[in-house]
Amino acid sequence: MKHHFTDTIFALATPAGTGAIAVIRISGLQAFSIMEELFETRKGTSLDFANTKSHTLHFGLLKDGDVIIDEVLISIFKKPHSYTAEDTVEISCHGSVYIQQRILQLLQKMGARPAQAGEFTLHAFLNGRLDLSQAEAVADLIATQDANAHRLAVQQLRGGFSDEIKKLRESLIHFASLIELELDFAEEDVEFANRDELKKLIESLQHTVFQLLNSFQYGNVLKNGIPVVIAGKPNVGKSTLLNALLNEERAIVSEIAGTTRDVIEDEIVLEGLRFRFSDTAGIRFTEDVIEKIGVQRTHDQVAKSTIIIYLLDVLQFEKTAIEKEINEFSSRLDPASQHLILVLNKVDQTDFSEFKKQLPSTTLYISAKTKDGIELLKRTLIDQVKQNSTGDEVLVVNARHAAALQKANEEMLQVIDSINNKKTSDILAFHIRQSLHHLSEITGDIYTDDLLENIFSKFCIGK
Ligand code: GDP
Repeated sequence: MKHHFTDTIFALATPAGTGAIAVIRISGLQAFSIMEELFETRKGTSLDFANTKSHTLHFGLLKDGDVIIDEVLISIFKKPHSYTAEDTVEISCHGSVYIQQRILQLLQKMGARPAQAGEFTLHAFLNGRLDLSQAEAVADLIATQDANAHRLAVQQLRGGFSDEIKKLRESLIHFASLIELELDFAEEDVEFANRDELKKLIESLQHTVFQLLNSFQYGNVLKNGIPVVIAGKPNVGKSTLLNALLNEERAIVSEIAGTTRDVIEDEIVLEGLRFRFSDTAGIRFTEDVIEKIGVQRTHDQVAKSTIIIYLLDVLQFEKTAIEKEINEFSSRLDPASQHLILVLNKVDQTDFSEFKKQLPSTTLYISAKTKDGIELLKRTLIDQVKQNSTGDEVLVVNARHAAALQKANEEMLQVIDSINNKKTSDILAFHIRQSLHHLSEITGDIYTDDLLENIFSKFCIGK
């Protein structure tokens, strides 16, 4: 079902503030008629939009009555060949805040309305130009800060993930229709859908859903950065190590301009992967043993981290105590989602060959002070993340999608269970419909206003 919008919306598409140029976008039924009033061509005439080709660029004046506001370039996009699938004009004006404001006010005076956050993309979705997961990718793309997040957003925008979901849905719809047919003939006890075939199909679909679901952990980590924490007893060299890791890379981090973050975290980008070292102030804090809160905060940081570098000190090495310490620490980790890297520090201080025999073979040996072994530690961090990926598979990067897949997965398991236990067609039909429902939520074939509000309100205005 296509939606019909009567409002014509506008917004500044470029960031607020002064720039060389600014772009103002106007979309909707009256976009062209409004611009016909405001825009004057070089010949001093108004532009005949009806007889002007889509995707053309025009130079002229933007005028409020007789008053010239600016010399502008306008681009014309005719429906359905625009971002919103509606008639759209983009005005490129000089980037003064005053000019921007004058034009925005003028558009409002002419009967257009300021767009809400994400409203252009919402129109694109409701007009069928994008599905919901692609619309969400647009938001991700705008927020992209590194190579991996960028690759994932582009992949999702281009429909890689949507295609997977569409295929799943189509297969399910086929069988759902056969089962529904059986319901129509309930009294005659016929089976249109061969149960063995159905079971095979559902099992393979469920397997795909399960794999997508599994990719979320990795996808999420790539999108949001990999949370890492350096843990260990006081004075083992945690801050020194953090500095050693950050020193060379910090320049790269600060070069990602305009990335103001609410919570200051230290980050390094290695081979396009963003490692986020959680606020170590919390950890230094724990060294005041009196501070129970500090200890709790360390635990919280560890719990939130995917990779935990556990640091030991060569100078405080004593086998039994260290074994106990490591075991105690590891027991608090979730082996399914957390990875421990054991590191022995201060190897510049003493011959450590004896200790090697007493520690797991995966232990790394470093000197945070002389930076010996730091490169290998970085390599280990990278490999730990990359081992989970072949590089080009479809990944789930969005928590909403993961939640919907989880529910679809549960329903599919119910279908399999119902077939195994020879349940009646109506029970099968119910679970198939539920699976379909959850898959449809991902692409937005089914949605509620609340869901749309929730998704699009996170967009910026003008997108
Ligand atoms: P934290 O309490 O775990 O954060 O430990 P710090 O990073 O503050 O380090 C404690 C002390 O150990 C400091 O005096 C550091 O200079 C020293 N230190 C840290 N790493 C090394 C190292 O690799 N070699 C040597 N010789 N000293 C180190």
